[in-house]
Amino acid sequence: MTNIQQGGCRCGFARYEIDLSGANTLNCHCIDCQKHLGAPFSVFTVVPASQFKWLKKPVGFIAFSDTANRIFCNKCGTYLKWEGVTSSNEAEINAMTLDDPSSFKVDEEIFVRTRISWLKPLEGVPQYEAGRTVEEGSKT
Ligand SMILES: [Zn+2]
Ligand SMILES: [Zn+2]
Repeated sequence: MTNIQQGGCRCGFARYEIDLSGANTLNCHCIDCQKHLGAPFSVFTVVPASQFKWLKKPVGFIAFSDTANRIFCNKCGTYLKWEGVTSSNEAEINAMTLDDPSSFKVDEEIFVRTRISWLKPLEGVPQYEAGRTVEEGSKT
């Protein structure tokens, strides 16, 4: 069963299609996300790489850590995709860039040790001090 959706940046220069079936969506409260987005946390949805494709691929990327590239639209600045330098078998998408960002549910919250003091945990959602696994724990 597929759940095909589309998304893109603010200006429409970058567009993608994603199959959200089996997606894992997380709120990330790490300091990198807070600074990079200028927001209290990020919302990322993770699917196998085969379930994601660019329809119009942006060219902007930055690498401010050794572990990942961050893909953004160089026309409007929207941050769209996180790409690990080593793991290419997953696509990690900024879920707020989906055309219908209310269409998913949040499965977990990570890096809650740096959650902003005035935010409360989402009720019924698993909370992780850092990343989900050892590998993800070192994700920045
Ligand atoms: Zn754009
Ligand atoms: Zn983060």
